[in-house]
Amino acid sequence: MSDTTDLFSKFDPLIKMRSDLLATGVTDPFGLVMERVISPTVAMCNGRETILLGTYNYMGMTFDPDVIAAGKQALDDFGSGTTGSRVLNGTYAGHKAVEEALCDFYDMKHAMVFSTGYQANLGIISTIAGKGDYIVLDIDSHASIWDGCKMGDAEVVPFKHNDIEAMEKRLKRIPEGAGKLVVLEGVYSMLGDIAPLKEMIAVAKKYGAMVLVDEAHSMGFIGPNGRGVAEEQGCLDDVDFVIGTFSKSVGTVGGFCVSNHPKFEIMRLVCRPYVFTASLPPSVVATATTSIRKLMTAAEKRAHLWDSSRTLHKGLTDAGFQLGTTEPQSAIISVIMPDLERGAMMWEALLREGLYVNLARPPATPANMTLLRCSLCAEHSAEQVQQIIGMFTRAGQAVSII
Ligand code: PMP
Repeated sequence: MSDTTDLFSKFDPLIKMRSDLLATGVTDPFGLVMERVISPTVAMCNGRETILLGTYNYMGMTFDPDVIAAGKQALDDFGSGTTGSRVLNGTYAGHKAVEEALCDFYDMKHAMVFSTGYQANLGIISTIAGKGDYIVLDIDSHASIWDGCKMGDAEVVPFKHNDIEAMEKRLKRIPEGAGKLVVLEGVYSMLGDIAPLKEMIAVAKKYGAMVLVDEAHSMGFIGPNGRGVAEEQGCLDDVDFVIGTFSKSVGTVGGFCVSNHPKFEIMRLVCRPYVFTASLPPSVVATATTSIRKLMTAAEKRAHLWDSSRTLHKGLTDAGFQLGTTEPQSAIISVIMPDLERGAMMWEALLREGLYVNLARPPATPANMTLLRCSLCAEHSAEQVQQIIGMFTRAGQAVSII
């Protein structure tokens, strides 16, 4: 009898890296607990009031009184969960209402809601692009996009981040007549940069490809109606599938795809991550519906969030930090750290100041970067943004990054 192979041995390098980092005495950056959440921008962490600058709560909807009231009402009226798939017993009036709200929000004909955004990408990509089809995608695509590609078994052809020429070269090489899907994101969440969607989609169309755009980080904020980067750049009509999530600007959990494709509804029967999982709880879809409808008229909030983004970007640049973009392009401002160790030290110094940001590291980040990712919320006041710049400056000096 041979010894059992420990299937966990492949994680040894990561286990060592983690224990080496913790041995330096730094607080575990991936073990933070929010002991109490006071508002979209403030929580208690380690017994201390902490400003939140590392959530996806871009539009600050999590404590909106109408959103909360809708959730409570749905709990009373429909119970705590559906205990079933959308195609069996799991479609309640609330699921139809949230899909209608999405159709109205995007001015599109079809909307399909998934239990998470991860599942929306997994489901739509794997179902529409299968064996023999080609997926051309940005190398910095989100994990859920890569996993969707793998699950569908299509030929996967990545190109250099935001490089239009590289994308065209890949498209040119695909055999005539093959099914082609180009997958892009509106905002890339690690550096907070946006895609030149207008140009890229024009190229994709030239080669007869269908286009899917993940607008997870732009919904509610970017574009005149908050429909995302494609709306901002005037090319939403050329997007075949928009993927989004309720876990960011909408302020709850869930994912979706909206489309004008005339055959889109068949997805409900053939998309496995839609069929073989329980639908969202009634309270979740009720909060999402209310939030989405309020985001349709959130122009003032959007304008304030843009102001905060510009102020923070300028403040951190002036303080001497190296940022992920030269101009603010979204609600995400990424601060580039020299290495993981100093990144973790800086992260901890900020937490001691009373500021929470995301510590992002490979493989989630491009080019092996360690990032302190700041994501702003429309509920951050101008005063909080100034406080944040002060905290960054003090922490940066304390750990000799600036
Ligand atoms: N797409 C992108 C670009 C994302 O950043 C994320 C989540 N960070 C998702 C999809 C998945 O969203 P969800 O949290 O709803 O699973």
